[in-house]
Amino acid sequence: MSQVSVRKVSCPACQHELEARLFDSLNGDLISPQVEEILAGTFEEHECPSCGTLFRPEHPLLYSELSTRTWIVMHPPADRARFALIERGVALVLEKNFAAAAPAVVEAVRGVKPRLVFGQAMLTEALRARRASLPPALLECAKLFAVRRNLGALLPYGPSQLLFEELDEQGRLCCGVYGLDSERRLGELRLPAEALAEVRAAQPQLSQLYPELFAQPFVSATRYLLG
Ligand SMILES: [Zn+2]
Repeated sequence: MSQVSVRKVSCPACQHELEARLFDSLNGDLISPQVEEILAGTFEEHECPSCGTLFRPEHPLLYSELSTRTWIVMHPPADRARFALIERGVALVLEKNFAAAAPAVVEAVRGVKPRLVFGQAMLTEALRARRASLPPALLECAKLFAVRRNLGALLPYGPSQLLFEELDEQGRLCCGVYGLDSERRLGELRLPAEALAEVRAAQPQLSQLYPELFAQPFVSATRYLLG
């Protein structure tokens, strides 16, 4: 269920073109080295032969891992502005993929909440958050609170997003600040250890204020920045 193809990609630093073997789809239940690379942030990393820049080519990818009911559609960051249209297609593709599947597979798919991410950095975040057992919608609500409380510190970065990286030894949520366009890591922000408990307590109100985060595939606080 994993497919690879050769595509022409450009170095983001010098625009040099090269051919790269990239996954079109990846079954996380079968190929664990690649899962570890996604978690490490090195999945599909290439070195530009012209300028030496290390980069992860941006491209469409379907990541599935049915043992953990994970189904993530990745698009390039350049598609982010069209998220509303793209996320409507995500659920349809999931249905279509399993319309004719065996009953055991249909059972495995039941309860899968498809995710839509833009860019390799966001795919990495999705798997890191899952490994840390952080519910995606609550994590995004915690980010919304954090952005409001740290506007002064985040403003100089321009249009940006917080991507969860790890829990530190004090249980704080370490987040990288990434640009929306380039996916470059610009800085970092640590959310207090109580951030998740705070949004969990407020979940009834938050799910009314931000219903899309709890029901739609594009689980990202940035949907309210772009909307
Ligand atoms: Zn280059």
